[in-house]
Amino acid sequence: MGDRLGRPLRDLRISVTDRCNFRCVYCMPKEVFGRDYRFLPRGELLTFEEIARVARVFAGQGVEKVRITGGEPLVRRDVVRLVAQLAEIDGLDLTMTTNGALLAAHASALRDAGLTRVTVSLDSLDDEVFRAMNDADFPVARVLEGIDAAAAAGLPVKVNAVIKRAVNDDAVLDLARYFRRSGHVLRFIEYMDVGHSNGWRLDDVVSAEEIVARIGAAFPLEPVEPRYRGEVARRWRYRDGAGEIGVIASVTQPFCGDCTRARISADGKLFTCLFGVRGHDLRTPLRAGATDDELARQLEAIWGRRTDRYSELRTAETVDLPKVEMSYIGG
Ligand code: SAM
Repeated sequence: MGDRLGRPLRDLRISVTDRCNFRCVYCMPKEVFGRDYRFLPRGELLTFEEIARVARVFAGQGVEKVRITGGEPLVRRDVVRLVAQLAEIDGLDLTMTTNGALLAAHASALRDAGLTRVTVSLDSLDDEVFRAMNDADFPVARVLEGIDAAAAAGLPVKVNAVIKRAVNDDAVLDLARYFRRSGHVLRFIEYMDVGHSNGWRLDDVVSAEEIVARIGAAFPLEPVEPRYRGEVARRWRYRDGAGEIGVIASVTQPFCGDCTRARISADGKLFTCLFGVRGHDLRTPLRAGATDDELARQLEAIWGRRTDRYSELRTAETVDLPKVEMSYIGG
């Protein structure tokens, strides 16, 4: 199943909640996501059964990888039960992106339920900087415990860091040093103009090129060939065999041409681009009794019309276009 630009559908990211226990300044700033913010009411969220059904239909249309995300997926009650339901879908690579705050408590249950891997977001090892960035005064040590617990439970771990200039620049080398030889793959994501509330400016972006140069100056690196079409991270390995890092250059070297990802918001809207404005409502047909076949036809029609390539068209003007928030659509 290809879209208008010949791109197949391979990955599905499912946001299971728009809520989060962090208020990361670049994602859910407190000024916007404060006390008065109206999060989705419970009845509007897809149930686990609905999510599992949609995922099964997507798998039937070529999806090989499902990522559970949010908001913070581990704040959704009983999310382990959802993992178990999704793990029943044959041949699926089932992963989760989390801020790690609740990971230590859930790691082995997630593994037992059938999660294949986990990605933990971690933007600094400096406790003061980390607490300021998550704006929930959450200590970095607890996230590191979560990472250790996941590894101990047998879950392969990736660590994702977003670098914002003049906020956590030092994290580049600190994280590289900390995760060398750990067996965990560290990846840096360029700070993006997702959503509308983070006041994004190009000057705040630390480019993948700069990150690789800074790490390479301390620990020499060499490039690694991509494993498959659509791999978002460009990979580098330490020449001394201490492991590898990845950089996701979504701003400076966009990869829309290879984008095989769809996203479903917590209330069941299908988005064919992270920078989408409007989603396609899947919840209504689901709740109106549509058959799997009807859902599959609907998906085919939506994907078949897809032309999104926002990051390749990004200009100073597009930054101000209305876009949905990452906490809603799922990171
Ligand atoms: N709460 C989970 C977490 O922290 O990983 C999952 C959702 S979060 C939206 C997913 C990822 O998106 C995190 O790694 C976060 O750092 C990243 N993210 C959020 N806003 C971003 C932005 N403006 N640019 C780049 N990455 C961003």
